[in-house]
Amino acid sequence: MVKEFFSDAKPIANLRQLIESELPNKNLNSSNTLWATSVCSDEVNQSLHQLDDFFKTFGPFILGGISGIPFAGKTGFKAFASHIPDEGGAVIIYGPHIGITKDGSVGKVNREGQDHSSSCCGSLVAGLNSVKSGNILNISHDDYQQGQVNKIITENFEEIKSTDSDIVATTEIAYKQIKRELTDIVAGSLDSLDGKPLLMIGGIIVNTDWDQQDLFEVRDVSWFNI
Ligand SMILES: [Zn+2]
Repeated sequence: MVKEFFSDAKPIANLRQLIESELPNKNLNSSNTLWATSVCSDEVNQSLHQLDDFFKTFGPFILGGISGIPFAGKTGFKAFASHIPDEGGAVIIYGPHIGITKDGSVGKVNREGQDHSSSCCGSLVAGLNSVKSGNILNISHDDYQQGQVNKIITENFEEIKSTDSDIVATTEIAYKQIKRELTDIVAGSLDSLDGKPLLMIGGIIVNTDWDQQDLFEVRDVSWFNI
């Protein structure tokens, strides 16, 4: 199923290699580069923390909320930008995530310590189920982020329901949304980078069962402020 839907997904170790190969192009290295993520809050995405072994700086700055949308907004980005080392730069890794179990269930994963699989991304699956069941959009202060996720799924539901796999389609919609929102935030706040380069790497995290290595399918690699 991974090959069917995410044919370019590679172990997260390959993401480290990509960063290592890109940074020297702008005179950056593991000591003068601060990293951030805009990925879902789900603890399964801590698999990205393999990158802690690479970055000597204390990261990542967390820009994303549930689903991976950059809920930290311009204020969060400006704070992140102000923490970049002198003469250094920044990396942001962004995107949604989707679980695929060993037995091929898409949108689920087996988590350590549990004898059953569960939704992954739970936020996107919950949003999809909510829209499918015809729930009226309700953005409340005690579930603000999910309200925004439901809104995005509602706006794209015609496209989602015309596909073979609605959770894969929802993940693709989430990718586009995360990329668009982050690009808007960065483009509108370039001054806050104070001339420092920013590498943005977008893709899909493919979570596998807990005893297997997670994957990342790179979709976009772009430099800003250069
Ligand atoms: Zn999630």
